[in-house]
Amino acid sequence: MMNRLRHVALQIMLSTLLLIIGTETVFSQVTLVRDGKARAVVVTAVKPSDVATYAVEELVSHVKKATGQQLPVAMETNIPTGYDTRVFVGVTDAARKQGIDADKLEIEHYVLRTVGNDLYIVGKELNPDQYHGSRPLYSEPWNPLATENVHTGTLLGVYEVLENFVGVRWLWPGDLGTYVPQRSTLAVPQIDTTVKPRLLYRDIGGWNLPQIWLTGSYIGRKVPRNYRVGGMSEEIVSKLVFPTAEAAFTYGRAMQVYHRRHRRVTQIEDARVLPATHLVAGVSDMWAKYGQEHPEWFAMRADGERGLKTLRAGAWTALCVSNPQLHRCLVDEAWDGGDELRLGEADAGDEGMCHCPQCLAWDGPQQQDFPEDLRLKYTPRAMGDRYARYWKAVYDLAVQRNPHVKISAYLYHNTLPAPLMDIELNKNITGEFVIYGSRDGWYPMSQQEDQWYRDQWLGWEKTGMSLVYGPNYLLNMYATPNVTTRQTGEFFRLAYQHGLVGTNFRSYTFSWAAHGPMAYMHYRLNWKPELEIEPIRQEYFSAFGPAAADVAQYFDYWENYAATRPTIRDISNDPRGALTRLKRIRGHYLAYPPQVYPPAEAILAKALEAAKKDPLPEFAQRVEFLQAGLKHSLLSTNLQEFLDFESPSSEIGSAPKDPDKLKQAKQAMRALIRFRQDPKNLFVSDYISNATVEKNQITNIESLFDGKRTSKATDPDDGKF
Ligand SMILES: [Zn+2]
Repeated sequence: MMNRLRHVALQIMLSTLLLIIGTETVFSQVTLVRDGKARAVVVTAVKPSDVATYAVEELVSHVKKATGQQLPVAMETNIPTGYDTRVFVGVTDAARKQGIDADKLEIEHYVLRTVGNDLYIVGKELNPDQYHGSRPLYSEPWNPLATENVHTGTLLGVYEVLENFVGVRWLWPGDLGTYVPQRSTLAVPQIDTTVKPRLLYRDIGGWNLPQIWLTGSYIGRKVPRNYRVGGMSEEIVSKLVFPTAEAAFTYGRAMQVYHRRHRRVTQIEDARVLPATHLVAGVSDMWAKYGQEHPEWFAMRADGERGLKTLRAGAWTALCVSNPQLHRCLVDEAWDGGDELRLGEADAGDEGMCHCPQCLAWDGPQQQDFPEDLRLKYTPRAMGDRYARYWKAVYDLAVQRNPHVKISAYLYHNTLPAPLMDIELNKNITGEFVIYGSRDGWYPMSQQEDQWYRDQWLGWEKTGMSLVYGPNYLLNMYATPNVTTRQTGEFFRLAYQHGLVGTNFRSYTFSWAAHGPMAYMHYRLNWKPELEIEPIRQEYFSAFGPAAADVAQYFDYWENYAATRPTIRDISNDPRGALTRLKRIRGHYLAYPPQVYPPAEAILAKALEAAKKDPLPEFAQRVEFLQAGLKHSLLSTNLQEFLDFESPSSEIGSAPKDPDKLKQAKQAMRALIRFRQDPKNLFVSDYISNATVEKNQITNIESLFDGKRTSKATDPDDGKF
């Protein structure tokens, strides 16, 4: 422990040292601000791209926050004199003269180079007039704020400068969540480097894009509502999410900015990484298309019949994956012959798996040392071997039709356990690793289970396939302070050290104030997975100034609580144990009852006192933000107290029938709505995600609103988890 602390202290010292060295004129002549005076001019091309223009705005506004100084901006044909340093942002003639040719850079790569007193920040950019990429135009692959834009090297370079040399930390969306340490001198050390992203696909922070991206833009711009916000009614949105169009736009816009600052990227044009989908070779329902004619291509059930006992539309009917005619059909007929061939079925385990002798023979030996908790999950068979052989067989056929083909598949449910036989795959076959926890949340896990998942990752790495990390555990966060930075962070790092090429988190957006360092750490690792966990946590805590140590203690309280609390199964006193997982709000209510909050509240009260000692108000405001997060967690779960549940294991509550109880439930709802509608709480939590879950798990939720009618809740699973 001491060693670890010392190590952390050393890392912090070193990074501080770098900043200090940066200010020494002996070592560096690139000075942006000295003794409170602007010493640099920011220079662009005569016609900068949208990305370069935005990159300049980001640079100038953050430098101003740090120093109070506004750096002037000029075109390269008209650079004012009298400044020590010129910061060239984006593609310019001046950069070309220095031999920095943006056209020779890959997308998302960037050059940071000091030359004498000057600094060049250059990436490949795109003029919309010249766009010939594969992404549809509505995804705006040139818009600096679109996460589908990968022509952003210049902007990524500016973010690196802001993080490394200005010390900027983007903790949560919005102004208060942006921490910029104050200084009167700001310099950049000599540097000459070309940076490339560690992960080529970096998707985190939203169950689906429209929820975050379109919500702000569409409601705010008053574009007709042709989108879905988690299938919520306008009434739910206006009560529980955004009371006004202005609030929606403010939040949506801040989310776009936040995601860009953390360099999230989705839907890459050249398919360098191929995330999985549940469709098979582009066919949404294989059984509907081929079941009649070729039942033998589908899984044989334990009773010898083919196909599902109860038909279910979609990608739910598992295949008989050892059947060579099926492989032929997939490659010759179903697949369009393009560069992408996706083979992810929905759920091939349990009853759905194929019991035919050939498929069973493909399975090979079964693991003997499953952790007890996990054994059930991989019953009756672990099928990593079987599916690895299937993917390879299909790949070998497909590559004859298109040598550039890439295959994607899920390492999911019964296909997650790594093969035990020596099966050789290759980098053109991508497996998306979907962790499924066995306790009553995904995390924290027992040490044994955590180790088992690590072993499976390493096992798949050995096959030589490309690996995407696509866990589901961020779907189970809701509004409670459910924090597990160490275990989740260390797994992420392990994955990166062993073959990770991209992330594809299926997630709700975070409850920013309640999840704190958990949210920040995931965004940080998504861009720089080589970072160590403790320094990332310290970055987050540092934004609380003199209250940093108290805030660390506060989140440790919750992290320890998460690791030691009783399981929901135990609390609910339900012998069937059906109400498992924090996926349900009721689970959160049981796992985080009101009596566990006071010690946490006391730590925050202490933190607030400490923060107030600093003349800058931002530190105290951030502590108050955390306090608001705790309040929101209580208000959100409190509602469950008054709902009707059919049994101890019911996952869905409904508006109570008893009139007194209904009165109380309505009162609880009123308090929650009042909180969410207060403009100063706009960034406390992602209310879009919260309300999506609430609408799905509280029947008649609208009847809890004042003077309102009823409607039915939808299926508890709002998608395939
Ligand atoms: Zn079979």
